[in-house]
Amino acid sequence: MLTWDTFGTWAKRAVDWSTRYHKGLRERPVRPRVEPGSVQAQIPATAPESPESMQAIMDDFERIIVPNMTHWQHPRFFAYFPANAAPVSILAEQMASALAAQCMLWQTSPAATELETAMMVWLRQALGLGEQFSGVIQDSASSATLSAVLMMRNKALDMRSNQTGLAAGPQLRVYCSQEVHSSVDKAMWVAGLGQDNLVKLPSKGPLRSMDPEALSAAIAADRAAGHKPAGVIICTGATSIGASDDVGAIVAVAKREGLLTHLDAAWAGSAMICPEFRDLWLGVEGVDSLVFNPHKWLGAQFDCSVQFVRSPELLVETLGIQPEYLKTRGKSGIVNYSEWSVPLGRRFRALKLWFLLRAHGLEDLRRRIRNHVAWSCDLAERLRAEPDFEITSEPILSLFSFRYRPQAAVQAGTDLDALNLALVEAINDDGRIYLTQSKLDGQSVIRFQAGQFEMEEQDKDLAYQAILDCARAVPVA
Ligand SMILES: *Cc1c(COP(=O)(O)O)cnc(C)c1O
Repeated sequence: MLTWDTFGTWAKRAVDWSTRYHKGLRERPVRPRVEPGSVQAQIPATAPESPESMQAIMDDFERIIVPNMTHWQHPRFFAYFPANAAPVSILAEQMASALAAQCMLWQTSPAATELETAMMVWLRQALGLGEQFSGVIQDSASSATLSAVLMMRNKALDMRSNQTGLAAGPQLRVYCSQEVHSSVDKAMWVAGLGQDNLVKLPSKGPLRSMDPEALSAAIAADRAAGHKPAGVIICTGATSIGASDDVGAIVAVAKREGLLTHLDAAWAGSAMICPEFRDLWLGVEGVDSLVFNPHKWLGAQFDCSVQFVRSPELLVETLGIQPEYLKTRGKSGIVNYSEWSVPLGRRFRALKLWFLLRAHGLEDLRRRIRNHVAWSCDLAERLRAEPDFEITSEPILSLFSFRYRPQAAVQAGTDLDALNLALVEAINDDGRIYLTQSKLDGQSVIRFQAGQFEMEEQDKDLAYQAILDCARAVPVA
């Protein structure tokens, strides 16, 4: 059994393994070829009654787990969005896990609470946001969006919804574009507002943004029908192809209508440390709430999602609860962050932000993000120049989509959707790179996003080669 007497020995081995693992990632396929059920089949059906040796546990980790993982830290991980864990944030996580503190109240974690406040100020400034925003670390963007929807619900029901529930009230309506992440739908489910009351407006133009006039019209129609509009969810850099609303125009409509706004910039928000990208969320200073995930593109080990709110009072009035045992006596002016979030218990997440921002400095983080954007744009140009490929959505930051459309397949009447899905599978089975598919205007397209911290320029060239090689090997008819 591992005790504090043997902890050091095994911790050193774990660290050595981690270093070897990261340095050797380029040699591994990004996605394993694994059959569903094959891992569980190797795990005994019941827990052991007596202790097993650490050696046996570590051996099994290397034998059963590692080869069957999808390697998110692989430099050629171009699927979904990145989940960067800079080495320094991994170190900070180890310290946080050694402290193993519950950071729900100032009293249960004075330093963690105050460091969180300080880091929220650092990040607010780094993103170019004004002093009207106060920040809090949430576990995920989904939780931040849920708390925003709960604020909308509470405000629309005169701050009484926690007490009265929803049964007797009017139907509360929330608006967004059709591009928003599924976490918005889920927030509506969990908040009890229901999918039917999430009004998804069509998106259009190069950025696939919601039309402010369509928003006004939808709100007016709902009021006429006796419903109660409660809020608008805006997106910057949505998941599928990076769709981004005109934040300023949508905020103007929402303000006129007296509705709260929440901006989901879970992925794109990190890029706003570079001033030249801030046009993408022009008008952000007017939103009531926004979320971005330092655990995606900024390098903070998962999980670490930052929510900025204009009125912490509204958030605390919505989520703060103080049973007797949680009351902090004799201290005024302190922050209890559990009153800002759905869960009570909270990890010490500010530590990795502090380590990360100090060890890298903003300039290094900007350099990485700028490289990702430049390399992604470059790959888009190279694919555009290929006669068999078309660019289906232009790069938004470092995300674009493309479609394989060889002449031979078009002439043979081949199902191009099936062909593109077959190409994604072939690319991912090849293992050199990892991509994901999406749907755009009803068509299957292939997404490419660059964002992994260890990525180098050569990885983009290798991506180009892997895409072309696999395309040539997929039968077109
Ligand atoms: C990743 C992502 C989310 C969900 O983030 P979690 O932190 O996993 O909940 C929501 N919205 C957008 C735009 C995202 O990219």
